[in-house]
Amino acid sequence: LPAGFTDALHGRTIVAIERRAKFLLFQLEDDHTWLVHLGMSGRFRLGEENGEAALPHDHVILRTNDGCMVRYHDPRRFGFMDLVPSRAIDAHPRLAKLGPDPLGPGFTGTYLAERLSGRMTSIKAALLDQRIVAGMGNIYASESLFRAGLSPRRSAVTILGRRADALVRAIRQVLEDAIAAGGSSLRDYRQPSGELGYFQNAFAVYGREREACPGCRCDWRQGGGIRRIVQNGRATFYCPRRQR
Ligand SMILES: [Zn+2]
Repeated sequence: LPAGFTDALHGRTIVAIERRAKFLLFQLEDDHTWLVHLGMSGRFRLGEENGEAALPHDHVILRTNDGCMVRYHDPRRFGFMDLVPSRAIDAHPRLAKLGPDPLGPGFTGTYLAERLSGRMTSIKAALLDQRIVAGMGNIYASESLFRAGLSPRRSAVTILGRRADALVRAIRQVLEDAIAAGGSSLRDYRQPSGELGYFQNAFAVYGREREACPGCRCDWRQGGGIRRIVQNGRATFYCPRRQR
């Protein structure tokens, strides 16, 4: 937390809440932005003023003027908060090098193909590079490549033209579907209401090693089924029959 954090927030009105990549941006009335990253295990929980008691690892607790308690809970403490003048937000070291948001207008097939040209890495690893596209995580990279019919092992330089357009479309669809389903709850993630997300029930390939992918009769006993491989230390799931 930055120095003077409590005093800077005390009595301020939050006028807007935005998201950029995996960062939350709370715009304060005094032209400052309260910048938050949830890390691996952080989450906000909303409750009543006289509701549940604080839990261990509730590191920040705010009370709003209408009696809502906003609790930031983070057992692993990888989360991050800062207060930044809003006009300087783009230059913040955590945001300055981020690529475009996958749901924003700057993320197009042409842009993606240009950024991937000359990259000797796999497309899966490239999608996790936050300088290319900001906010893609490991689960959504596997799911997007499945929807686009592209192998995660394919070299990033081969993603251009129609392939790049198809991948951009798939990424947007997967993220929009995941947001509509309230996110993916694997270990810690909860919605602010405390509810679990539901998108994990709709995974086509992630975490489904040896199963058949949707719409496919691939069977691992006949050498098919979803495979799990490790790329750059992260698990990747894909169907070798449907993804080329
Ligand atoms: Zn399959």
